[in-house]
Amino acid sequence: MKTHVRVLVIGGGAVGVSTLYHLTKKGWTDVALIERTELTAGSTWHAAGLLPLFNMSYTVGQLHKYSVDLYKRLPAETGQDVSFHVTGNLRLATSRERMDEYQKYCGTANTIGVPFEIITAKQVKELWPLLELGGSAETAAIIGALYHPQDGHIAPADLTMALRKGARNAGAEIYEHTEAVGIERTASGEWRVRTAKGGDITAEHLVFATGNYARQTGRLLGLNVPAIPVEHQYIVYDESPELKAYRQGGGRELAVLREPDTSYYLREERMGWILGPYEKGAPARFADGVPEWFGRSLFPGDLDRLVPHVEAATRRVPALEHCGIKDIVNGPISYTPDGSPLIGPAWGVRNVWLNEGHSFGITAAGGAGWQLAEWIVEGEPGIDMLAVDPRRFGAYAGKRYLVKKNEETYRNVYTVHFPDEERPDARPAKTSPVYDKLSDWGAVWGQRYGWERANWFAPRGVERRDQWSFRRTNYFEHVGNEARLMRERAGVIDLTPFTKHEVTGPGAESWLDGLVANKVPTKVGRMALSHALTKRGGIRSEFTITKIAEQHFYVVSAGAAERYDSDYLFKSLPPDGSVGLRNITNTRGCFVLAGPKSREVLAQLTDTPLDNTAFPWLTAQVIEAGLAVDVYALRVNFVGSLGWELHFPIEYAHHLFDGLFQAGSTYGIGMVGMRAMESLRVEKSYRMWGSDITPDYTPFEASLDRFVRMKKGSFVGREALERQLAAGVPNRFVTLEVHQVTDADPLGNEPLFDKGGRMIGRATSGYYGHTVQKSLAIGYVRTELATPGTELAIEILGERKPATVVPESPYDPENLQLRT
Ligand SMILES: Cc1cc2nc3c(=O)[nH]c(=O)nc-3n(C[C@H](O)[C@H](O)[C@H](O)COP(=O)(O)OP(=O)(O)OC[C@H]3O[C@@H](n4cnc5c(N)ncnc54)[C@H](O)[C@@H]3O)c2cc1C
Repeated sequence: MKTHVRVLVIGGGAVGVSTLYHLTKKGWTDVALIERTELTAGSTWHAAGLLPLFNMSYTVGQLHKYSVDLYKRLPAETGQDVSFHVTGNLRLATSRERMDEYQKYCGTANTIGVPFEIITAKQVKELWPLLELGGSAETAAIIGALYHPQDGHIAPADLTMALRKGARNAGAEIYEHTEAVGIERTASGEWRVRTAKGGDITAEHLVFATGNYARQTGRLLGLNVPAIPVEHQYIVYDESPELKAYRQGGGRELAVLREPDTSYYLREERMGWILGPYEKGAPARFADGVPEWFGRSLFPGDLDRLVPHVEAATRRVPALEHCGIKDIVNGPISYTPDGSPLIGPAWGVRNVWLNEGHSFGITAAGGAGWQLAEWIVEGEPGIDMLAVDPRRFGAYAGKRYLVKKNEETYRNVYTVHFPDEERPDARPAKTSPVYDKLSDWGAVWGQRYGWERANWFAPRGVERRDQWSFRRTNYFEHVGNEARLMRERAGVIDLTPFTKHEVTGPGAESWLDGLVANKVPTKVGRMALSHALTKRGGIRSEFTITKIAEQHFYVVSAGAAERYDSDYLFKSLPPDGSVGLRNITNTRGCFVLAGPKSREVLAQLTDTPLDNTAFPWLTAQVIEAGLAVDVYALRVNFVGSLGWELHFPIEYAHHLFDGLFQAGSTYGIGMVGMRAMESLRVEKSYRMWGSDITPDYTPFEASLDRFVRMKKGSFVGREALERQLAAGVPNRFVTLEVHQVTDADPLGNEPLFDKGGRMIGRATSGYYGHTVQKSLAIGYVRTELATPGTELAIEILGERKPATVVPESPYDPENLQLRT
């Protein structure tokens, strides 16, 4: 066994071996993998081998697409067959909401380049003759389906062996029966891994790909990895006479069938079937680690959980009735609270990478290995990986939270994924101090990064509940009223979840300046919207940096980016101690007070002059507001009206809230929720980190040129921007007015087409602009099509709608309200 390698991968399932393989593809061949028993001994050996391309996430969709393409070419490359049956994949729909979901997915699939078809019930029957179209009280009628002709199923163990062969051929080493039992940092900053059989391996980089063991492996470094497995079972049937007759009659292998509305998948297996449901009540397992005895074992089958799905599937495919059950496979499947894997850097430690939490790990292995290897070797992934970045979860994702959320995610694998869906389990967890007050206002709560956030406020007499939809729905009118309140009077948004850092010390300014593309403010009381870029010039983070005092900066970023940003900032600190950095997210609350009457409201609480000369737009002051002291008042906001963000010491939350509402009562002040904020910010063409601005696009592509100071000196990503300027900026961020919308506004991830019908970009957000009374989309188009007036089309839920590029900021383009 080698004692030193550049990268050591821990875990020999499909995901770990794929990572090893891809590292060698990137030219790093001094790499090794250790596996505690034998390759595939974890979840990989008993997976059903399905490779669904379907995924609502833009990132995960790209990873799956890469996998499917890779698995098709692996046999030729390695000489090892992977038993890829390209049967296609059929997802049935029995409701309009399900069809809407498919249509929404098709928008994403289009932008990724995944081939798919929406087909009719008649075509379903032609593709799958053994199926009943339904239409009775027990079996709903099929109204259409989503068909992926190019995926199918694979043998997971063969796949792993092909990847092993590819990796070994390139020089990688694999050591089985070698368990990692301890990890320590060496004086030189490398990682020394102690193995159970004795002998250490030291590595520059470590990759954890330990499947169900993710929590144990994480604990070796004190990491609370947010992945806990849930039981998943499938039934293996004996030979099916009907299937045999169909196949012997010349019928081709049937497509993998999914009926999400009754929550099961079905595929052929040796003239019989494999039927796998996603049941209610499947328990999370191994929350405290995998017991020693489990090894390659399975759990006993739970027939009670299976029965409703077996019955539903049998009604749809009566051939199931005539074959016996050969086996029930019930194994652990690793889950995370949002069902997407954890691919990327671990937080708080350097050169430790996670490839954990895979619930579709056979499908994802190829893509996950590809991008993680890219990240390790290049320092950055090649595509936007925010949706799978392990740091999208924070410390709040503790054991009990994970158990509840992962069980909830599992039982919802096949429910309709509405864009406005908010799942109820493990809530409320993190709340702002004024949570009860907002509840009294009628808050209809949602959750992000563990925080409760008011999505909208139900007026008295209106039910406090969402009717989730892909279209305008029950809260549309109320969100509109909140948006108008903000534009016409004064509204308050509780943005306490914002991520907040304090940067101090003699090196603070120059350090920050080297991290972001904008010029960090040099004068006390000034602020700058600033973007930290990747080395490729993509936007990794957005910070509002305010100079509070000499050598003292207040850095605010998205609430959901707390661990992601904090980790980046801490890892970027200079070693000389010249910069102090504190994550003060939980010590300050934030209320946005905005609207034309906001000045009058705030004036009643403070002696600080608020007129334009004393307190201009884009400046900040430390003020007293009522009895609250040390309030950072930032004259800036995300809704585009006159207003202030008040960042206050958290202990004043109630006092300040009551003060604002007392002062504002004569002006008709009211609460405004996240959905109205979405409408208001889209009307101003304000980009949202994570959806509109991501590592996929540079600030020039995002049309944020005014926040880039190329002449200021060096900053991360500058060289890439220079290269892009020289080569020409390929895309531009535009605002589109969408015409002929009746009830389905764009929401993001819709493809955009030119007049000739060619896809030329994608919308990254969209909403109904309640105060401009227009349906709006924002996103990226090829530069030559970015001129206002250009006529394009956008596909919303399968329908192409005309859309016109309009100048930025349909509401108040001159920013007169902000400067007023
Ligand atoms: C019943 C069932 C059906 C499924 N069907 C599908 C499907 O059809 N399609 C699909 O995409 N996915 C499916 N899955 C999910 C799939 O099995 C997993 O997502 C995938 O196998 C995960 O692979 P992995 O490499 O991450 O983990 P694993 O395969 O679990 O591998 C992790 C490895 O790490 C090793 N390890 C752990 N700790 C250490 C240590 N300290 N030192 C050294 N080695 C260590 C383990 O021994 C193990 O071999 C299914 C799962 C189940 C349970």
